Amino acid sequence: MELVLATKNLDKIKEIKETFKNLGVKIFTFKDFPHFPSVVEDKETLYGNALKKARTIARFTGKIALADDSGLQVEALGGAPGVFSARFAGEKATYKDNNRKLLSLLEEIPLDRRKATFRCFIAISGGGIKERVVEGICKGRILQEMRGENGFGYDPLFQPEGSTRTFAQMSLKEKGEISHRGKALRKAGKVLEEWGNTTVIGLTGNIGSGKTTAARMFAELGAEIIEADKIGHDLIKKAEVEENLIRTFGSSILDEKKKIERRKLGRIVFKDKKKLEELNQILHPLIGSEIKKKIVSSKARVVIIDAAILLEAGWDSLVDKVLVVSASYEAQLKRIKKSTRFSPEEIEGIMQAQGPQDKKIQRADFLIRNEGSLEETRRQVEQIWGELVARC
Ligand code: ATP
Repeated sequence: MELVLATKNLDKIKEIKETFKNLGVKIFTFKDFPHFPSVVEDKETLYGNALKKARTIARFTGKIALADDSGLQVEALGGAPGVFSARFAGEKATYKDNNRKLLSLLEEIPLDRRKATFRCFIAISGGGIKERVVEGICKGRILQEMRGENGFGYDPLFQPEGSTRTFAQMSLKEKGEISHRGKALRKAGKVLEEWGNTTVIGLTGNIGSGKTTAARMFAELGAEIIEADKIGHDLIKKAEVEENLIRTFGSSILDEKKKIERRKLGRIVFKDKKKLEELNQILHPLIGSEIKKKIVSSKARVVIIDAAILLEAGWDSLVDKVLVVSASYEAQLKRIKKSTRFSPEEIEGIMQAQGPQDKKIQRADFLIRNEGSLEETRRQVEQIWGELVARC
C-alpha cells in the first residue's frame, strides 16, 4: 500500500516514518511531488484542519493521504494555545518563539498548576468512503525552563505524566511510545491495515455494454460483486419504501397482489424526467447506504460495485477506482434486442435516462472495450485484475 504524508514538516515526517517502519506501507512525502500544495489551516479545530489537509493531498496525489494536526492545551491558559499551537507567537514563529511566549504567560503559575495535554488528530483520506480521523492524547505539565535538544515544538517544555524527563530529553522511539502522536499513529496504522485488504471498484457502462458479463469474469477471478440493481429491487419490497413509492406514483404501479410491479413503475419514469428524478431521490440515497454497508463488511480483496448509474447517482464517491465497460451504440442495441426483457420503447427510455457513454469514459480509471469476442473481453479483465491485485 502507498501512503503520502500531508505535511512539509520534516520533524513530523521523521516521527511518522519511525512509527510506520514495520507497517509495510510505501511512504511518499512532498518531495516526491512537484507543486505539492501548502494547505491553509483555517479550520476552528485540530480535527477540521487534519481532515482538510488529508483530503486536499489525497485529491492532489491520487493516493491515500495522512495528515496530522496537533495542539497543546494548557489548563491555566483556558486550553490555549490549542489549534493555534504552531503559530502561537505569530504566523512565522519558530519553536523557540512559541516556547518563550508560553513560559512568559505561565511565569506566575507554580509547577503544580501547569497541567497540560497534548492532543493529536490524524486524518486519513483515500478518496471514496475511505476516510477516518483518530485521536491520541498525552497528559503532562509545562516546566519552568526548556530541557533537552530532541523533538520539536513544545517538546522541551512538556513533561509527560509519570516521567522525569521532557519529550525533548527522549529518543524518537521513547517519545513515540507515550506521545499523543505516537498513540494516534498506531491507531491510524490499524486503519491502514484494514484498508490495505480491500480495493473497491465501481463498474459502470450503459445498457447492453457488457457490465454483467465483465462482472462475472471478475467474480470468477475472486472479486465480490455488489449489484446496485439487486439492492434497488430488494429495497422496493420493504414496507416503508413501498408506501413511499405508492404515495408518490399512485396505485397504478401495483400488480394484482398489491405489490409493486417494477415494469409498471419503469414505464412511468422512463418517459417522464421529473418522475424519474422523484424516484431517484427516494431510492438513490437508500441504495448508496446499502452499498456502503456491504463494502464495509466485505472481506474480499477486490469488491466490484456493478451499477449502470454509478456516476449519475454519485456512488463513485464510494469507490477507489471507476471501471467503464464501453460498446458501440449498435452493439449495445443488438445485444439488448436479443434479450426479451424490454420492449423497443423501454429500451429507448432507458438509453435516454442513462448519461452519455463518452462522459463515463472520461471519468474511467480503467476501460474495457467490449466490442469484439468474449475472449478479447476476458483478456482485458485479466489484465485489470492483475493490476488491482498487485496494488492491494
Ligand atoms: P444491462 O445494463 O442490461 O444489465 P449489461 O451492460 O450488464 O446490460 P450484459 O448483460 O453483460 O450487459 O450483456 C448484454 C448481452 O450481450 C448479454 O446477453 C451478453 O451475453 C451479451 N454480450 C456481452 N458482451 C458480449 C460480447 N463481447 N460478445 C457477445 N455477446 C456479448
